[in-house]
This record gives sequence, structure tokens and C-alpha cells, in this order.
Amino acid sequence: DVTEVEQKNDQLQKMLKMLKKTSIKVQSQNKKLQILATRDPLTRCLNRRSFFKIFENEMSRARRYGHGLSCVMTDIDFFKSINDNHGHLAGDQVLQRVSQTLRSALRKSDAICRYGGEEFCVLLPHIDAENAVRAAERFRFLVESSPFGEIKITASFGAATMDIDTDKPELLIDRADKALYAAKEGGRNCVVHWNHLTVK
Ligand code: GH3
Ligand code: MG
Ligand code: MG
Repeated sequence: DVTEVEQKNDQLQKMLKMLKKTSIKVQSQNKKLQILATRDPLTRCLNRRSFFKIFENEMSRARRYGHGLSCVMTDIDFFKSINDNHGHLAGDQVLQRVSQTLRSALRKSDAICRYGGEEFCVLLPHIDAENAVRAAERFRFLVESSPFGEIKITASFGAATMDIDTDKPELLIDRADKALYAAKEGGRNCVVHWNHLTVK
């Protein structure tokens, strides 16, 4: 019976359409889940777990192909007084502003992580020590040039570059952190590379 076949065909088409819709929904929900699992909700920067995964991959690539790799740690200067003077909400907005500023200066192969409260870590594949300082100096200038309304923002930067001793992300980050500490000690709003530290 032709009409019966046509009816069944109609039903089938409808079901196919519904299936397609559901599959699109599932896909978009998976994407949202993926973002939730890998990024910090406030700044949309990578969380530590996903950042370390990328960092480890990039380190083994750098070793395999013999190219440079650097990392830059940054910490917003006197952030506590931004919170104290303008409120926690403004503090959050400053965090978003700084992460946007940093992201705008990155290349596609770079990665940025919200490492702690007001600390960010940037991974720079294919970048040697000299260019890491140059990049960090560019970040520093951009942050200083991007106030949030009346709130002036500056940050301090510590850079470190992979060598034969640094076989783990943690080690390179620790060096960048030491350089960052020196940048704070040196008056803030400046860049220090681990290679230039006198006391290591
Ligand atoms: P320094 O120049 O030495 O880095 O001084 P600082 O004031 O930036 O450093 P300190 O470690 O004393 O203060 C960091 C502050 O960041 C304290 C904490 O309450 C605040 N903070 C951490 N996470 C968040 C956040 O998600 N939102 C806001 N608004 N504040 C945060
Ligand atoms: Mg700080
Ligand atoms: Mg801090």
C-alpha cells in the first residue's frame, strides 16, 4: 500500500530530523562541558590541569625538534589594594581585563593559564631567552597601558627558558616564579629573566 509506505517514510524523516537536533544539542553541551573542565570560569584562561598537559606536550616537542621554549609568570601589582579600594567586583573585572590584555598579545600556539588568584602563566613555544624578555616587556607595557576605568594596573613578570636541566614544566615554572619574585623585589612593574638572577 503506497500511502502506508509514504506515511512510514514521513515518520522516518521526522525522527531523523529530531535525532539531528538532539545530536547538535549534545555536541554543544559537550563543548560547554569541555570549557568548564579546562578553563577558569572568571577569566576563561586555561586551568592548571589543562595547562600542564599542553606544557608537557610542548616541552617534549621542543626537546625532540631542538627549538626554544619559554614561560612567563606574571602577578598583578598591589592587587589587594585594588580590592580594598574599589571592591571585590572591580577586582574581578580587573582580572578579566588583564587576562584579555595578555591574550590579545599572544600567538595561536601560546597558552595562558590562571595560575593562582592574580597570577597568570604564559607558555611561549619556539621562544628563546632574549625573545621571552621581549615578549614579557610587551605584556608589561600593554597591561600598564590598559587601565580599568580610573584603576591603574601594573604587573610584574618573571621569565624562564628551557635548558637541559629543565625537563618538567614544574621546574621551568619554578624558575619563572623566582624571577617574578625578583621583579617584585626590584620595584614591580618590570621584567626579570631567571638567567639574569645573581642568586638562584
Ligand atoms: P604584590 O604586588 O606583592 O603582588 O601585592 P598584592 O596585593 O597583589 O598581593 P597579595 O598576595 O597580598 O594579594 C593578592 C590578593 O588577590 C589577595 C586576594 O584576596 C586577591 N584575590 C585572589 N583571587 C581573587 C579573585 O578571584 N578575585 C578578586 N577580586 N580578588 C582575588
Ligand atoms: Mg599581586
Ligand atoms: Mg600573588
